[in-house]
Amino acid sequence: MKRIGVFVCGCGENIAGTVDIDRLVEEIGKREEVVVAENYPYMCSEPGQEMIYEAIVEQELDAAVVAACSPSMHEETFRQLVGTAGMNPYQCEIANIREQCSWVHADGEGATDKALDIVKSMVAKARGDRDLEEIKASLNKRVMVIGAGISGIQTALEVAESGHEVVLVERNSYIGGHMAQLSETFPTLDCSQCILTPKTAQVNRHPNIELRVNSELEELSGYVGNFTATIRKKATYVDWDKCTGCGDCQEKCPSEVKSEFERGLDTEKAISVPFPQAVPNMPTINAEGCRYLQEEKCGICQQICPADAIDFADEPDLVEEEIGAVVMATGYEILGQDKIAEYGYGQIPDVIDGLQFERLLSASGPTGGEIRRPSDGREPEEVVFIQCVGSRDEEKGYPYCSRICCMYTAKHAKLYKHKVDSGQAYIFYMDIRAGGKGYEEFIQEGRRQEGTKYFRGRISRLYREGDKVRVKGVDTLSDENIEIDADMVVLASAIVPNTGVRELAQKLKVGTDEHGFLNEAHPKLKPVESLTRGIFMAGMAQAPKDIPDTVSQAGFAASKVKSLFSGDEISHSPTVVYVEEDICTACGQCVEACVYDAREINEKRKVAEVQEVLCEGCGACVTACPNGATQQRNTEQDQMLSMIDEMLD
Ligand SMILES: Cc1cc2nc3c(=O)[nH]c(=O)nc-3n(C[C@H](O)[C@H](O)[C@H](O)COP(=O)(O)OP(=O)(O)OC[C@H]3O[C@@H](n4cnc5c(N)ncnc54)[C@H](O)[C@@H]3O)c2cc1C
Repeated sequence: MKRIGVFVCGCGENIAGTVDIDRLVEEIGKREEVVVAENYPYMCSEPGQEMIYEAIVEQELDAAVVAACSPSMHEETFRQLVGTAGMNPYQCEIANIREQCSWVHADGEGATDKALDIVKSMVAKARGDRDLEEIKASLNKRVMVIGAGISGIQTALEVAESGHEVVLVERNSYIGGHMAQLSETFPTLDCSQCILTPKTAQVNRHPNIELRVNSELEELSGYVGNFTATIRKKATYVDWDKCTGCGDCQEKCPSEVKSEFERGLDTEKAISVPFPQAVPNMPTINAEGCRYLQEEKCGICQQICPADAIDFADEPDLVEEEIGAVVMATGYEILGQDKIAEYGYGQIPDVIDGLQFERLLSASGPTGGEIRRPSDGREPEEVVFIQCVGSRDEEKGYPYCSRICCMYTAKHAKLYKHKVDSGQAYIFYMDIRAGGKGYEEFIQEGRRQEGTKYFRGRISRLYREGDKVRVKGVDTLSDENIEIDADMVVLASAIVPNTGVRELAQKLKVGTDEHGFLNEAHPKLKPVESLTRGIFMAGMAQAPKDIPDTVSQAGFAASKVKSLFSGDEISHSPTVVYVEEDICTACGQCVEACVYDAREINEKRKVAEVQEVLCEGCGACVTACPNGATQQRNTEQDQMLSMIDEMLD
């Protein structure tokens, strides 16, 4: 008979406040195979771990059951611990009596009975556990970073600096993401370009970074350490190997299109570089705006190009990259005009969004940094800024706080006043959230020095009145009705995940929350890991955050990649599935059930097989298998049955 130890954690009051820990230990200790049963308020702490270590050594335990929080929290901690005491790590089981018991029940007696059932069933499982060895696989120490905003750039540079190769995939023709569009940045008001452009230049020159712009991931196959990425490069109609960047084509092109980079506030030529500091500084042709590609007329750029670089026959191209890890840094967008029509966005020309205002503020923007109304080019004397447009609005937008708008709106009001000395800025807000270092001071300074007027409350109406935009609302602090005839209105629209991120996440088997932001494996303990091993995340793709937080998170994602690459091979959990081939009928139901592509039918041998390194041990194929031919190591059928028997006892 196995000698099993049971260690019950009180988790402070989290478990002990509901479950009678002493009774639990006493009852479970009566079982013959349980040679030690102990409790401690914090089993994951040093004294708690020491208690388990000593018991394993002194009592010569064969298996251990730790009754505590969810295995996603500390299974790894306890398995590592028992390993140091000489026990096979897969002889350690976690009985979740917190999330599955104390947190969901108020009745102490009932909760204690249930906790006892859970622990008994895990003791039954431990009884059947076998020693397992980790599966080893080779490791390709190249990483693919998807998205080259500041988060992707920071991650790429940090990994590249440590000597590993990086493939940086960006769907735009330039790198830098939204930061390239910003003017000056809170709370220090240093210019965005001055922080960003040295980094974009470094990326462009770095020998360990392979930059793939105009590109998106088409498909990812394989597993941690050994992924194959298929990348689709869009047609640019310009051969960048030949192009010298002389700019003649852009100058002579007769067709104009709306500039996406200037967020529709300006036009650009159908063949153009999006902005002068763009990296790479190479032109692409906007097919929809190009007369040659639409009607086979014009073709001036091709005629005048001295390098013969224009290629109207260019087609999308697929390339493959072998990599060992992926970082998703796909960033954000702001809420589209269809969702915020009630604020006049898209209908009233002088109602613009925050990123458009950034372009007006920017020295390299469409007005050369002067604040001008889109409708008539006049300098606005009164500007109303409206916060929480679509954020913290369950009815019409999203329930979450977009986290950066209080700060960038305060910045906008400040910078506006720096540019229009006689101007007045008004801000409608719900609450001011300024939690970063120096942030509250920044807001207060704006009130004091630039005279920004704050009104606490949502606006009730906004409409065009002559050449003004009338904004009506209530200041809920003074109970006063507010009515302003503004020259311009700037909306702090909700931050939303970038377009196409859900589909991309599905390709990578990474979860998203109900709004489409990437789900981390654990919000506190694994904040940059996804549930798919080897796939990490950084920046706004995970949740709204400012540049300092984005850069910190990107650095953390980079260090996770570096630590993954620190060994020479990858270890994979051995709790994977296997096939009892003599009863397998090759029906294929396991293949259908597996979302990790770990199951396949060997047509020659007429049996189902398992690619162990792809198997995540979710057990979906075990339940799908009609005759029990698929079994999971250390969750075998007889173990499951004895666990159920214990519950029914
Ligand atoms: C109006 C406004 C003002 C702001 N002002 C400040 C400020 O003053 N200070 C501050 O700290 N923060 C500010 N911010 C926040 C700042 O913009 C973000 O913190 C930062 O840009 C986030 O960087 P990111 O790399 O995560 O995302 P992004 O900048 O969005 O970059 C993501 C990149 O990924 C690319 N991408 C997306 N999907 C794919 C795909 N499928 N394949 C390939 N590439 C893809 C995108 O093209 C983009 O280049 C402001 C934000 C707004 C809206």
